[in-house]
Amino acid sequence: RYPVPKDIEIAQEAQIEPILHIARKLGLPGSSVELFGNIKAKIDWKLGQSDLPKRARYIDVTAISPTPLGEGKTTTTVGLVQGLGYRGHRAVATLRQPSMGPTFGIKGGAAGGGYSQVIPMEDINLHLTGDIHAVSAAHNLCAAAIDARLYHESRWSDAYFEKLGLQKLNIDPYRVGIGRVVDMNDRVLRHIITGLGDREDGPVRQSRFDISVASEVMAILALATDLGDLRSRIGRMVVAHDTKGKPLTAEDFGVAGAMTALLRDAIKPNLLQTLEGQPAFIHAGPFANIAHGNSSVIADQIAVRYADYVVTESGFGADMGMEKFFDIKCRTSGLVPDAVVVVATVRALKSHGGGPAVVPGKPLPNEYKEENLDLLRRGLSNLVAHLGIVKRFGIPAVVAINAFPTDTQAEWDLVRETAVQAGAFAAVVTHHWEQGGEGAADLAEAVEKACEAPKQFQYLYELNQSLTAKIETIARDVYGADGVDYSDESRETLEKLEADGFGTLPICMAKTQYSLSHDPALKGAPKGWRLPIREVRLAAGAGFVYPLCGDMTTMPGLPSKPAFMGIDIDESGKITGLS
Ligand code: ADP
Ligand code: MG
Repeated sequence: RYPVPKDIEIAQEAQIEPILHIARKLGLPGSSVELFGNIKAKIDWKLGQSDLPKRARYIDVTAISPTPLGEGKTTTTVGLVQGLGYRGHRAVATLRQPSMGPTFGIKGGAAGGGYSQVIPMEDINLHLTGDIHAVSAAHNLCAAAIDARLYHESRWSDAYFEKLGLQKLNIDPYRVGIGRVVDMNDRVLRHIITGLGDREDGPVRQSRFDISVASEVMAILALATDLGDLRSRIGRMVVAHDTKGKPLTAEDFGVAGAMTALLRDAIKPNLLQTLEGQPAFIHAGPFANIAHGNSSVIADQIAVRYADYVVTESGFGADMGMEKFFDIKCRTSGLVPDAVVVVATVRALKSHGGGPAVVPGKPLPNEYKEENLDLLRRGLSNLVAHLGIVKRFGIPAVVAINAFPTDTQAEWDLVRETAVQAGAFAAVVTHHWEQGGEGAADLAEAVEKACEAPKQFQYLYELNQSLTAKIETIARDVYGADGVDYSDESRETLEKLEADGFGTLPICMAKTQYSLSHDPALKGAPKGWRLPIREVRLAAGAGFVYPLCGDMTTMPGLPSKPAFMGIDIDESGKITGLS
């Protein structure tokens, strides 16, 4: 099949089945399928609560520390599902919905690649069924509620509020916790001034925009187990503080019910299909650095009741998305995976071995196109470290060596030997990008065996440990740090959170994905360093505390030559240039 056509060409040439057939093949009751056109459907969230046994084997796909190009987790998730299908199993993929920021910015789409994709990829990358917009609307309603309340409380007397059956909240205008959101990369909105104009237009405040997928509402959508849970989590969101420092929630503003009403369709997972006709749920898409970076609990709860195998992807590497998958998502859902797939590429391993920087949009340096066993050998420490992290959770790891056309057999052999020596259950070269499900048959077989292997799952930490104890466990046992250094501000926040009763929440570390440390320049498996915590924030509705290690942007910018310049649509409605 060389040369492999562009992702969008493969996707557009594919035979697409009516989505109702896909739902029927999976055994979903017809009454639970809400058609959204002919090739997309929303599925009733209540199926995730049914009495059916949770029969599927459950697999998480993670990776080594990636390069900015991505090492193929989504592609491998879809390829593995197609591979399991090729071997006669009923398999389902559960994935995040991509934000449009990266689609138009640098990275391009996120529906897999080559002959392992979810289709229609145009829809997945452009709005899908509007869930992210619903999240934006719910979030922005809350932001409007806060500013309106600030205005009215500044204008009218306590007595007037009492007549309305309300009490003044005495909001501290300097401690409003949320800004507005929009699903675009738009750097000039990072810091804004609202309320310019007349008295009726104010009060004037400095505020901000974040990208929608960084909203706590998105993290809540991903973690909610049902509609009632969604409603109470939204009510618990701490969105401001009063002038005495008391937290004010969405419930206090009386806006939580309306916010949840806006999400009544967004809570239903979207059903699509792989290139080879397996079901794929695309649902929720929280940021993978400041949030937990995993697709929805509800879609997984449905899938494990109807499939033999459910394969889900967690964002970035095992240090990031997978740790949060176990300690946050699995803790919420109660589901425990049977195996983990660690995606590794020769390319990323060479970059960990000291290879030149890999820059999106620039040609790959020669080191990555020719055999170079020295660079590769030096970079394998990163794979070994990630395998150590998986081992800490007691689940068997299968290393998927995602084959690129420029790799050599000697390079694959070296990765495979090292992986097995480091305790991987198996290490398999996989060709699904080039060959679809047939190319992932070996990977699928290894994963099936790993699912039957003995395991002893354990969380990394217990919730009743202190926040600092949990943070230090992650820093030492997952990242390999010697310890943690807290800024004065972060220490104060941690003490206040403990005092306010938030000490039993899990930790969602906000850290770079490019290194096991906080410093993207430290490749491989850095030793002899300490993790600096700059600031600590609370997501009381999502149910985690997130310490920031370094600067984390919650509103990305567009590059000089953004991906949108290549995207177009012709008179027939055919879209070109999405990758
Ligand atoms: P991740 O989910 O880890 O970020 P993706 O699966 O989205 O990574 O893949 C990133 C990009 O790399 C996609 O454009 C995909 O088509 C491409 N890609 C993935 N695997 C291969 C491969 N084996 N050969 C060539 N390109 C690949
Ligand atoms: Mg991905």
